[in-house]
Amino acid sequence: MGIHYKKTDAYLFLVQDIFDVILKQILGIIGGGQLGMMLTEAAKKMPEHISDVIVLDPTPNCSAAQIGAKQIVGDFKDKNAILEIASKVNILTYEIESGDSAVLKTAESKTTINPAPETLRIIQDKFLQKSFLRDNDIPVTDFVEITSLDDLKRKISDFGYPALLKARRDAYDGRGNFKIKSENDVEQAFNQFSGKPLMLEKFVDFKMEVSVIAARNTKGQIATYPIVENIHENNILKMTIAPARVTKKIALEAEKIAEETMRVLHGAGVFGIEMFVTERDEILINEIAPRVHNSGHHTLQSSKTSQFEQHLRAIIGLELGDTTLVHPTIMYNILGPDNFQGKYKMPEIKLDNIYLKMYGKEESKPQRKLGHFNVVDENNTKGIDGLLESINLVKDGISPIPA
Ligand code: AMP
Repeated sequence: MGIHYKKTDAYLFLVQDIFDVILKQILGIIGGGQLGMMLTEAAKKMPEHISDVIVLDPTPNCSAAQIGAKQIVGDFKDKNAILEIASKVNILTYEIESGDSAVLKTAESKTTINPAPETLRIIQDKFLQKSFLRDNDIPVTDFVEITSLDDLKRKISDFGYPALLKARRDAYDGRGNFKIKSENDVEQAFNQFSGKPLMLEKFVDFKMEVSVIAARNTKGQIATYPIVENIHENNILKMTIAPARVTKKIALEAEKIAEETMRVLHGAGVFGIEMFVTERDEILINEIAPRVHNSGHHTLQSSKTSQFEQHLRAIIGLELGDTTLVHPTIMYNILGPDNFQGKYKMPEIKLDNIYLKMYGKEESKPQRKLGHFNVVDENNTKGIDGLLESINLVKDGISPIPA
């Protein structure tokens, strides 16, 4: 004999089903590297809102899959793979900005995508991005489009030296930049890019690189995290100091610029807004990333709401979380050593106030981001100088070793 439900029971089950469908969403992420992994971890802490995570990534058993995301193995730019993930999820986001925004636009008929593909289209082209910011009166350094070698020769004589020639697209960690120091470098710089669309920027004499992690939710609510200071080595982020060692005036100004940027950009999510503080204390935006950002990893321990939870709150339309920085914290990236490629292991570390996060990447490669650790001033007694001392004591010991 089967179970007999009363009419009211059947009604309650139906209501529950409808609620589950409305409230619990399947999240899709294009990219399942470390950012996708930490987004997946945040999603798992929100089971009342997100029932499942599917990532699209070319590496089988990618970082996000290792902690329980389902994975479609495929390229970030593969149209069929993007349409497949879009058809399986209620909300789609991405951890990389090099996806194909035209394909994403097509996929909008199948699911909700945030940040919007149109926002991605503007941001992923550095020239369109800077033009958009300048048109909206947001401060950036001077820049121009470059269409030929003659064009470059003409325009650089207006700009003066040094100047930076940049690939407009698919360039990150400084790989698409060439610093032109004198007339002698011009031809070599141009040829280096072999026909890619280019732009030229005035060189900014900055005294500090900073960033603001900002969020906008689907309803237009905006929140910014306190400004942080970024230390690069070989153009790759090495360390983020939260909060940045700047005056209150600069901090407020940077947060205001970030807020204004979020107001004019459409689409919801967390954005990493990288800026320069110049010798004259001006703030200029260098670049926006339409995604959670390496300089926001400190929020995992330092802040009331991590940037990963914040991103999910933003794209599913929840009220944004509290961005208060509770403990000064320094994030230190663990990069693959220069002289080694292959399988590796990490030394055991058990130190108070140090939180190590490895990304589960099988192989080390020179300068590859393998993990990070946060050193947290949990009693708020050490200050930034104390945290820097701690980093100096431990950093060499927290390094990959050939397996
Ligand atoms: P990007 O990949 O364009 O963000 O640039 C990578 C790094 O190059 C930045 O973090 C800065 O250190 C430096 N950089 C980029 N643009 C400029 C600029 N206009 N002037 C001086 N340094 C720059």
